[in-house]
Amino acid sequence: MEILKKRILEEGIVVSDQVLKLDGLLNHQVDPELTMEMGREFARLFADQGVTRVVTVESSGIAVAFATACELKVPLVFARRKKTLLADPDALCERVPSFTKGIVTDIMISRQFISPEDKILFIDDIIANGDAARGLIKIIHRSGAELVGLGVVVEKCFEAGARTIREQGVRLESLVKIKSLAGGRIEFEQ
Ligand code: 5GP
Repeated sequence: MEILKKRILEEGIVVSDQVLKLDGLLNHQVDPELTMEMGREFARLFADQGVTRVVTVESSGIAVAFATACELKVPLVFARRKKTLLADPDALCERVPSFTKGIVTDIMISRQFISPEDKILFIDDIIANGDAARGLIKIIHRSGAELVGLGVVVEKCFEAGARTIREQGVRLESLVKIKSLAGGRIEFEQ
């Protein structure tokens, strides 16, 4: 997605050879027009898959997942990161390490919002090592639902997450692929 590449070049801040700060677009502020454009692209890529629900992990995936769900005209379910007193005791949970926070968090989805009849499109913001995505994929599999694919806004190709998930047989589509952040320079994969 060329417009997204342009915005990443203009607004992304390379924090280290591994980390790209995208607060202006994804992780702090949301540009509604650009986000709806991303949602349209994911909806186009998975249009023929009979998606019944879009699923993401709170919080940065929610805006783009909402845009995708809006376009596909299906509900959006976001996995919650903490167990709350109001949570369903029978919820599906996984423990995942957090790339940016350096801590382990629990993600959960209530069985009420994911069922064996569902065809799930999983949307996320950025994929690095793939821990968060693998955790949510396990939840989807345990629910009995079918995972039709995973759409990520930014794939960091120099980290193993996307590759290992594709090797699991999951269809993974990314809007932008970043090959390297070395030397403070954002290099896209062609
Ligand atoms: P993973 O579990 O794939 O290692 O990391 C996934 C999550 O960590 C993403 O959903 C994203 O929120 C965060 N993350 C990973 N790499 C980056 C990065 O380079 N920049 C930012 N802003 N977040 C990242």
